[in-house]
Amino acid sequence: MTEPIIVGNWKMNTNVSEAVHLAQQIRQAAEQSGVDHQCGIVLCPPFVNLSAVGNCLRGSTIALGAQNCWIEPYGAFTGEISAAMLRSVGCEFVIIGHSERRTIFHEDDALIRQKMLRAWEESLVPILCVGETLHERQLHRTWNVLESQLEQLLAIEERRNPWVCAYEPVWAIGTGIAAEPPQIEQAHAFLRALLDAHGCTHVPILYGGSITPTNAVALFSVPNVAGGLVGGASLNADSFVHIIAASIHARATNR
Ligand code: PEP
Repeated sequence: MTEPIIVGNWKMNTNVSEAVHLAQQIRQAAEQSGVDHQCGIVLCPPFVNLSAVGNCLRGSTIALGAQNCWIEPYGAFTGEISAAMLRSVGCEFVIIGHSERRTIFHEDDALIRQKMLRAWEESLVPILCVGETLHERQLHRTWNVLESQLEQLLAIEERRNPWVCAYEPVWAIGTGIAAEPPQIEQAHAFLRALLDAHGCTHVPILYGGSITPTNAVALFSVPNVAGGLVGGASLNADSFVHIIAASIHARATNR
């Protein structure tokens, strides 16, 4: 996929008509401004809106992604959705290990590793989220946390498959307080070195956490930031396309 990569995580927002409207607006604005050919764009609506949004995106360069998947291909797992099902509605990407899944739904690194394997089995590109809580940062445990979140994954051969890593400090998600560029620079340099040392030079590292049209250029200008995972600001087409344009601008200026 073309870099920079901007992923919109709509979380548990939009009913089907709102999702269709938002996807149409984003597609139109991205195509009119030409950013759709200069950036990898992924929209991750709620499961029930995937088909409808997929229809809106048909024939465009914008890819469809899901926010989660289960580890088994089918069976008695009431309320879960398999990676194969996601593939069948046109998904190319799936977010795995978002901090809201880790904290609210108690997903651990072992389960997340299984989800990554299942996504790869269905030829989905997983977008793996890692990041420390404020408490962990205050205890100077950021590097240990990032390393341990990646440890199981970096030990398996499948790590050589396509995937995307998203550094999302938990304290910056949905808080309106993005990490400062020097904090992002340190974390991304750490992750880049860790991934490279394990043969994952092909894995882009995105930043996520309170990205807005106002701070986007500064955040995307940080070395080793290959794009962004955008929550709140992806629910507004103008803001989202502005952020996409900012990522393209930052890349062109800092090349
Ligand atoms: C996210 O949901 O991954 C995220 C980064 O959210 P926000 O942009 O709202 O902080």
